[in-house]
Formats: sequence, structure tokens, C-alpha cells
Amino acid sequence: MRKNMSDKQEISQKILVWYQKHGRELPWRVKGGAHPNPYVILVSEFMLQQTTVKTVIPYFKRFMEMFPTVESLAKATQEEVYAMWQGLGYYTRARSLHTTAQIIVNEYGGKFPQSRAEVLKLKGIGEYTVASFLALAYNQPETVVDGNVMRIICRLYHLTETLDDIKETIRKKAEKLTSREHAADYASAIMDLGAMICTPKNPQCLLCPLKDICQSKDKVDLEQIPIRRKLEKKEKQGSVYLIQNSEGAYLLRKRTEKGLLNGLYEFPWKEEGIIWTKAEDTQRHITHVFTHIKLTLNIYKIICDTPLVPDGFFVPKEELSKYPLSTLMKKVIKEK
Ligand code: SF4
Repeated sequence: MRKNMSDKQEISQKILVWYQKHGRELPWRVKGGAHPNPYVILVSEFMLQQTTVKTVIPYFKRFMEMFPTVESLAKATQEEVYAMWQGLGYYTRARSLHTTAQIIVNEYGGKFPQSRAEVLKLKGIGEYTVASFLALAYNQPETVVDGNVMRIICRLYHLTETLDDIKETIRKKAEKLTSREHAADYASAIMDLGAMICTPKNPQCLLCPLKDICQSKDKVDLEQIPIRRKLEKKEKQGSVYLIQNSEGAYLLRKRTEKGLLNGLYEFPWKEEGIIWTKAEDTQRHITHVFTHIKLTLNIYKIICDTPLVPDGFFVPKEELSKYPLSTLMKKVIKEK
């Protein structure tokens, strides 16, 4: 048992040493302990949910210039926040981050909570984000388990069962490896190792600090690990309407506050089937893949001077970019 413990410490030490030398320099990161500004960690963690580091970097920089403190973000309007988020997608995150900033300012006097239970009560923070926030902002010994970590653990121990069936096993193994003294660096280190070395395809085993102990290193099934159950994406075919008035302005509407893409502006559309049978079919379409749905929208045109939907309003073509639109609607604009 004692031997086993020291093995674990040796593994986390190898990862930490590798990180000090090779870990990425990122605008929201400091090496050698917790970040001094928890707001920086909060913003980056929200942005990094479902989005790659490379994509997030320029958005993060612009966002921090616009809202450098939690107070400035709390004071902003939803439109201002959305405008800085445009293009990152998954706008629910922007809304939750905004609400969280308001809670921190209004209920905690601008001081960030540091207990797991309190952080979890903020908006849009689940098990993954609470762990990484507490580790990175306060060096608390939390275990971060994302896709990168799962891949490393499965390969390190050559776990070949389907991922969904062994999540608890992976979490326990990841927990045992977590450095208690250097939790912030360790959380960054293991994510970098997954993103830079133990990549899904072509892992760089020769450069890996775990190469001497990894149980998958020379196995033929290495790239297949972790084993994922194949998800069938549901296909839907709907319609979207470019409604123009006689001056060429386009009809937009704001989505209701709840559900998919909430709070964004859009052309009227329907997830399945059509809304107006007399609309002109442009014979063009766009396709967008959500987590579980592959959506194809056929594009229709209508010329009409009255808004055809209760909450619709006309916007001159050159002003469309002032409204936060989803990636889905931006695809429609490109096709119009
Ligand atoms: S040796 Fe290869 S498979 Fe094993 S953890 Fe390192 S990069 Fe991943």
C-alpha cells in the first residue's frame, strides 16, 4: 500500500516536472501555484466549456479588456455580454457567467466564495468547473476530470471497457494521482499533457513523462482508447425564413429566454417542417450539428412589409452584425 502511494506520487511528480518545462503559457494562467485573480479563472473556465483553448484565447483577451473586473461584468447589459461572446457559441454560458458575476457582487460583496458548496450554488457551475475553479484559483486539492484526463487515465492503466461504464473507476484513479500540495499546477499539467502529448490521434509517447510506466504505450489499440459508445445523431429537417420588406431590411426576432440559443436574435425558423407554405424555396440549405442533433434548415424567402411574427422587427442589412446571432444564423446569413 505504501509502495502504491509512492507510485502515485511519483506519477504526479513526473507530470508536474514535465509541466514546468513544457506546459503552455496561456493568458489566464500562472505557473507555480494558484492564480492571484479568481475572476480570470472564472471567465476562462466558462469560455473553455465545450470550446478549444486556441479558439478561446482571442475571445478571452477581448472579454477581459471590455470587462476587466467582476464588478464591470456584473454591471454590463446582456446585449453587451453577448456581443463579446459572439462566435463562441453555447450562449447559455455567457448568461450564466453574467449571472454569476452579479451574484458575486450583490451577495458576496465582490469576494469570490471558496467553498465547494457555495461555488456550486453559482449559476452554470457543475462538477467539472467547480473542481477546476477551486484548484486553479485557490490551489485546493480538487480533481479535474475532463476528456483529456479520462484519456490519460484509460491509457496509463490500459482500461478498455466502454467509457460510460468506468467513469467512477477513472475518477477514483484520477483522484489518487492528484497532487495535494500543487493542485493548481497539477490541474493545468494533466490537461496540457492530454492536449499536447497524449492526444486522441498520434500520441507523442516518446516525449511523454509517463512513457516508462504507461500500460498502453506500445499496444496496437492505443488510439482507440478510451473506448466510446457510438452516439447516433438524430437528424432533423426544418426551415428558416429570410423575410425582407420592400426596403431590403430583414426580419429578426429575439428568442425567448429559455431553451436552446435563448436570448439571441434570429430569422424565424422551425426545427422540423415548414411555417409558411407560400414562401419561395431558394433551394439552398445549411446544416448544423448540435451535440445530439444534425439539423438541416432549408432556406425560404418572403417579401413582406409587415412583421409576420408577433415579436419580429425589421433590421437594415448593414446593421445585422449589431445583433448577437447564433452560429446557426450566421450560416444562414452566409447563404443568403
Ligand atoms: S505513454 Fe503514450 S499513451 Fe501513455 S500516457 Fe503517454 S502519450 Fe499517452
